[in-house]
Amino acid sequence: MYDYDFFVIGAGSGGVRASRMAATYGAKVGLAEDYRVGGTCVIRGCVPKKLFVYASEYSAHFRDAVGFGWSEGNHDFDWKTLKANKDKEIDRLEGLYGKNLDNHKVEIIKARAKLLDKHTIELTDEGGSRTVTADKILIATGAWPSYPDIPGIEYAISSNEVFEFDELPKKITVVGGGYIAVEMAGIFNGLGVETALLYRGEEILRGFDLEIRTKLRDEMVKKGIDVRIHHDVDEILKNGDKYILRLSDGNEMATDCVLYATGRQANSRNIGLEELGVEMKENGDIIVDDYYRTNVDNIFAVGDVTGGMQLTPIAIKEGAALAATQFNNKPTFVNYDNIPTAIFSQPPIGTVGLSEEEAREKYGDDLKVYRSEYKSMKFTLAGRDERSLIKLLVDGETDKVVGAHMIGPDSAEIIQGIAIALKVGATKAQFDDTVAVHPSSAEEFVLMK
Ligand code: NDP
Repeated sequence: MYDYDFFVIGAGSGGVRASRMAATYGAKVGLAEDYRVGGTCVIRGCVPKKLFVYASEYSAHFRDAVGFGWSEGNHDFDWKTLKANKDKEIDRLEGLYGKNLDNHKVEIIKARAKLLDKHTIELTDEGGSRTVTADKILIATGAWPSYPDIPGIEYAISSNEVFEFDELPKKITVVGGGYIAVEMAGIFNGLGVETALLYRGEEILRGFDLEIRTKLRDEMVKKGIDVRIHHDVDEILKNGDKYILRLSDGNEMATDCVLYATGRQANSRNIGLEELGVEMKENGDIIVDDYYRTNVDNIFAVGDVTGGMQLTPIAIKEGAALAATQFNNKPTFVNYDNIPTAIFSQPPIGTVGLSEEEAREKYGDDLKVYRSEYKSMKFTLAGRDERSLIKLLVDGETDKVVGAHMIGPDSAEIIQGIAIALKVGATKAQFDDTVAVHPSSAEEFVLMK
């Protein structure tokens, strides 16, 4: 007899959902977390990031407002107010998560967990260590920022620290060209920080539709961000209050803050997995099958710690699927086709399905590309020099829409609905048959000829 039917390590998106659902199905559940309940998404990811995006957009909104008749004003920004309000909101959300788990009788244990054998977990907190036992164990420990091994990398920070800044730097240099890099660059630029972004490759946001990527870079540059592609950093030096970046092209760049957003690595080390022989990839991603089972029969893993798409909704779906499979006698797995995603860059991007490059590879000459580039109505009177782009990719043979992409205001909101259409296999004819919502940007999706 074990202390718990199910013991979950990590109270992030995947772990919280799995524990709550397993408890709903009648399991006795323990959940260990050594930091705060909510995980990366709630505490230092999606949620505070989006609050910061909102904050940073006001500078442009204030400028836009003049074209609508509002007088120009003096709009000072106070970082401390934003941070304090953000902290309050995150505390509130963390409280709600905890309450919800309590209501479902999940026992939250604030301790660091380590597996001693396949059924025994050591829990360590300030008071010392103890052990508990469990029938099934879930590893949902997420991922952590990873940095390249270059001299001076200890001077760099990750997005984690941004959420705790006491004050804003005057100048920041962001390294990387993925989700976090472009989102953070937009936030800092909007808040009035002189911002540079250095990306080692040909074009930012590798893996997304090329035209959308190029458009984002153009718009970021128009907004004043110093975006440099084909730029890598060989060394970081400290000189008084400044950091000097030695770039691979031989040039140097001085900055007040160096933010690395160069990917995230699974949190799978030092929790007893190697000793138990749990199979992992070289980079630490835990290897699981379609039902999130590791090679050790009672140990499971979901979310970022397994690699794959590091997205909150995926971790949540995986956690729910695992709980249904293990505790509701209903084998469930996640369908990873047509996963929509949004990048909260400025302008934001919403995307689902194949990029034009992937679709061209798959459908060749049968691929039909529909595109619409336009100025958002809101920006006409505002006089803002920003254009949106919408693309639909259609398999000419079946008329099925295989990719939808948008860069422009509200694209995150709009793509969610479009994703349902792709999920059910909608054709271009069905898009065309849908009546437009007018006047809107979303209507472009049903008006493209
Ligand atoms: P990403 O994998 O998105 O991007 C990493 C970037 O760093 C790439 O541009 C990559 O370049 C570059 N890079 C990697 N290694 C090096 C290196 N050694 N030197 C220089 N550049 C390097 O990771 P992020 O850190 O941006 O985000 C982590 C994950 O978090 C994302 O994959 C995403 O799933 C998730 N996330 C989701 C968000 C959302 O849904 N809106 C928001 C934020 C994060 P290259 O392309 O050449 O490999």
